[in-house]
Amino acid sequence: MEKNLKKLTNHIYYLPHDPKTDRPILSAICGDHQTLLVDGGNSDKHANLFLGELDQYQITNYHSVVLTHWHWDHSFGINQMNLLTIAHENTKIHLEKIKKYEWSDEALDTRVEKGQENQFCSDMIKKEFGEDRNITITLPNITFKDKYEIDLGGIRCVVKHVGGDHSDDSSLIFVEEEKVLFLGDCLYPSIYTHQPQYKIENVRHLLENIKMFDAEIYVLSHESPLSKEDFMGYIMLLKLICDLTEKHQRNHLNLVNELSTQLNRKLSQLEEELVYCFINGLSVD
Ligand SMILES: [Zn+2]
Repeated sequence: MEKNLKKLTNHIYYLPHDPKTDRPILSAICGDHQTLLVDGGNSDKHANLFLGELDQYQITNYHSVVLTHWHWDHSFGINQMNLLTIAHENTKIHLEKIKKYEWSDEALDTRVEKGQENQFCSDMIKKEFGEDRNITITLPNITFKDKYEIDLGGIRCVVKHVGGDHSDDSSLIFVEEEKVLFLGDCLYPSIYTHQPQYKIENVRHLLENIKMFDAEIYVLSHESPLSKEDFMGYIMLLKLICDLTEKHQRNHLNLVNELSTQLNRKLSQLEEELVYCFINGLSVD
C-alpha cells in the first residue's frame, strides 16, 4: 500500500488507507490561510508519517484536526498531532470512557471476552503498536452537537453529525468549493454489536443526510476515494437491500434471489455480506 501523500483536488491532499494495520485515510484541506486535517491516525507513527509528508509539501499552518468518529484507528494519533481537536460531543464521551483503559494483551483480551472490544480492532492494535504500546488518548478541545463550520480562507468546511450504525457520533466533512465529501466510516456496519449489522431505518436516515451534500468525490476512510458514479452505485445498492430486507425479513434465500434478479447477476462477496448485516439488524420481537 502506498505511503505517499496524494493530491485529491487543488486544495486537498490525502495519505491513502493501509489495511495492514487498518490505518484509515488521513486528509488535509488547505485554504488560503489555514489547513484542516481530517482524522488523527491510528498511532503516533501514523500521525508522524502524515505530518512528515505534509511538511515535505510545505503544508503547515494548521487550523485544527477534526475527527470523523472516536474509533481507535481515527483517534489514537491525535496526541502526537498536538493540535486543536474538533469532534462531535459523543466522540468526546466515547474517548473519555476509553481513556481509562489499559492496552496490554491481557487487558485487550479480557475486553474482547466481555464483548467490550472488537476482536479485529484488538488484533490490529496489537499489530500496529507491537510490544511498545504507549497509547495516550487526548480529548477533543471543541465539541459540537449538530454542525460546525470552518473557513480556511477561500475554502469552507462543514462538519455535520450524521450518526448511523457504525458509530453514533459519525460526522461528515463537506468541502463545498472542492465538492468533496469525507464520510469517515459512517456507511460501514456496526462493529461493537455481537454481529456486524445495519438497521433499515438508520441506513435510510443516513442516506437522506448524505444526499444533502452535492459532491463529486466521496472519501470513505478504508478504501480509495470514489467518483460520484461509483458512490451512487453503492448508495443504490444499500437502498435496494433496505427495501428487500423490509420485504423479505429473515427469509435469506428469497432476499438473495430477488437481489440477484434485480442486479441481473450473481452476488459478490461484499453484497452477500451486506445482506447478512441487514438481516442481523432486524429487530427481534
Ligand atoms: Zn470506525
